[in-house]
Amino acid sequence: MGLLGELDSLRSLLDQVVLTPDVRDNWIWTSNKVEIYRVNETRHTIDDIILDSSLNLQQTKFNRSIPLKVNVLAWRVKRKRLPVLAELDNKGIDIDSVLCLNCTNMAESVDHCLVACSNAISIWNKVLRWWNINYNSFSTFEELVVLSPSGLNTKCKDIWNGIIWITAYYIWKNRNVKVFGKNVMISDAVL
Ligand SMILES: [Zn+2]
Repeated sequence: MGLLGELDSLRSLLDQVVLTPDVRDNWIWTSNKVEIYRVNETRHTIDDIILDSSLNLQQTKFNRSIPLKVNVLAWRVKRKRLPVLAELDNKGIDIDSVLCLNCTNMAESVDHCLVACSNAISIWNKVLRWWNINYNSFSTFEELVVLSPSGLNTKCKDIWNGIIWITAYYIWKNRNVKVFGKNVMISDAVL
């Protein structure tokens, strides 16, 4: 838009302005009915704009019990935006193999990497034993997320949920250490 175009736009905006004498200038937030700025409603507004509701995605829920970087991992996992080999291949990126670099038996999907690979199984086994939960073989990460020890109040559920995501974070970090050729943590060190 050239300068004259910008001037026309400005004029058309100002044409709608009605000045009222004896009333102080103030800011109005037009994204909600009460016209008051609220962080929570801003999050909903942003979600409505950038998320496609037809995809039936889970809501973004920030867990205050865990660090921001772990919340970001949770967001990426829920939206299948973790760059595991199978996802990169799905996006048309030319890679030599999609086989998991840890076990070399299966394609490296998000679920395989975080739940079903031998390294992940050994870590989940210990975490679940710590919380007195019998380990079952999980095939998807969602099965783990919905799992919850009985009798927990809301705060404890948040902590449990945080433990699930922090464990996933360290499994993912461990995987990246392996992919990028640095020292690999053993499962006891992760715990
Ligand atoms: Zn594997």
